[in-house]
This record gives sequence, C-alpha cells and structure tokens, in this order.
Amino acid sequence: MSAQIINGKEIVSSYRADIKQQVEQLKQQGVQPGLAVVIVGDDPASHVYVRNKAKACEEAGMHSEVYKLPEQTPEADVLDLISKLNGDQAIHGILVQSPLPGHISEERVVEAIAVEKDVDCFHPVNVGNLMIGKEGPAPCTPAGVIEILKKVGVEIAGKHAVVIGRSNIVGKPMAILLLRENATVTVCHSRTKNMEEITRQADILIAAVGKAKMINRSHIKPGAVVVDVGINRLDTGKLAGDVDFDDVLETASYVTPVPGCVGPMTITILLRNTLEAAQCAASATS
Ligand code: NDP
Repeated sequence: MSAQIINGKEIVSSYRADIKQQVEQLKQQGVQPGLAVVIVGDDPASHVYVRNKAKACEEAGMHSEVYKLPEQTPEADVLDLISKLNGDQAIHGILVQSPLPGHISEERVVEAIAVEKDVDCFHPVNVGNLMIGKEGPAPCTPAGVIEILKKVGVEIAGKHAVVIGRSNIVGKPMAILLLRENATVTVCHSRTKNMEEITRQADILIAAVGKAKMINRSHIKPGAVVVDVGINRLDTGKLAGDVDFDDVLETASYVTPVPGCVGPMTITILLRNTLEAAQCAASATS
C-alpha cells in the first residue's frame, strides 16, 4: 500500500477561487475586505509569511496593508497602531505576526485587537467562544486542517484523532475542532510517556511539534491519515515537516506534504476569516 499524497495546491486553489468570487460580490455592495498585517523586527521567516499573506490577500481582490516596524519599536507604539486599525473602516482583519521582540507582550497586543477584527482567533474572547462552540473566527491552521480532511473525504466522526503538540495556536485549538467534528481526541506533548503506543492508535494523526522528521512509520498505524503541520528549516536550507514523509508513505493511507499543504491552507482560512469579518461589518451597517 502506498499513501495518497494530499494535493494541497488543488484544494487551496479551488477554495481561493470561491473566496475571490465572494469578495467580488461584496465589492459590488461597496465593501472591499481589508487585512492589516503588523510585523515587528527582522525575523526572515516571519517576513516571508507576511509577504505570502499580503500576496494572497491581493490575489483574492482584498485590500492589504503591511506595517513593518523596527525591532526596537516600543510596545506603546504597537498598541497605538492597533487602536488606529481597530477604528479604520477599510480594515476588517488585523494580524500581528509572531514572534514579537521580547520587550513586547504578545498577550497585551492580542488583547488590544478588536474581537471582531481578530482574524487569527487569538483573542481570549474568541478562544473562549471556540471552546464553548459559539460562532466566531476559526483558528487558521487547525481550521485549515479540518477543511483538508473534509475535502479529501476523510471521515472524522467516531475516529480516534491524536494531536501531537498543545500550543495555543495549533495543538489546543486543533483538539477542540476535532472534538467538534465528533472525533475521540488524545493530545500528546513533550511530557507524554510512551508516545508511540498512543500515536499508533490514531486513525488521524496530526503532528504539530516543530521537530523535523520526528514522526516516522513506527508512530503510525497502517492506514492512518497523517497531517503534518510542522515547518522546520533544515541545515540544507530546505523545509521539512515534523513527519518523515518518505518513511511513512508505505504505512499511511493519506499524508500531507511540507511545504505545500497545511501552510497555504492556513493562509486560505485567514482570507476566509477576513472575508467573513467584512461580511459581518457590511451587514451591520446596511
Ligand atoms: P510550539 O513550539 O509552540 O509547540 C510545540 C508543541 O510540541 C508543544 O506542545 C510541545 O510540548 C510539543 N513537543 C515538543 N517536543 C515534543 C516531543 N519530543 N514529543 C511530543 N511533543 C513535543 O509550536 P507551534 O505549535 O507553534 O508549531 C508547531 C509546528 O507547526 C512548528 O514547526 C511550526 O513552525 C508549525 N506551524 C505551522 C503553521 C502552518 O501554517 N503550517 C502554523 C503554525 C505553526 P510542551 O507543551 O510540553 O512543551
């Protein structure tokens, strides 16, 4: 048996074509969805992510603003900028690229973003709404994973899903979204004992660790669906996921490639969240 490699490009392009069409419709009603991305400092990987987000936004017909602030920018200036963007009617989504320099509190910055413009779903109010199943923006990476599974026709309800990683941006919200889809969910982390025994029970295995090629065939049950969220830069300069892709090919039933699947789908959900925030703003004023 050889795993089916999930074609992220195909999924993403059909999704984005649909978003573009909805953006066009909204523009005809006089509203252009707008996303502001704020980046502080010179982290090269973060600058690549921000460029990709802005490009995707423009390609979808949305308005995009990027604020590049120097590393030494005081926290108060970042908060002032967010406050200005909160009041800007051309902006429906605000995203502050992490990591922020050490002198700036991520918590204060995230909490300063207006709840209805928090398209990353990092604000505690949106995280709380997610937890109790209320409507709100979906956390981009985990929601992208769910969409990928649905697009390829993987049944989630009743399946045992194992998530490796418990960060606030990937692992935890991933577990919540899988629960919402009626999976039985187990979360593993750095203190998990006998992790292989647990991951080998997974029908769906989501790796969000940040350790290149850590997950191999010994972690996987034959026929499991393997989704690789990890993005790791190797010494060669190439990108690799958390999953040893070649090693699991004969064991898994589906596997996502890195790069080219969860990453672009994450940006697609960001576009969707911005579009929905604009649709909400438009219906509130009409
Ligand atoms: P974090 O570093 O915040 O979290 C990593 C998680 O992995 C932690 O919960 C940690 O456990 C756990 N972990 C670390 N080592 C082990 C181990 N040996 N065994 C089991 N669990 C372990 O990372 P993120 O969640 O932010 O990101 C994870 C990966 O996903 C990274 O490669 C990142 O680049 C990528 N990513 C990709 C995105 C995309 O768009 N495709 C978006 C966001 C992230 P503990 O809590 O105990 O420390």
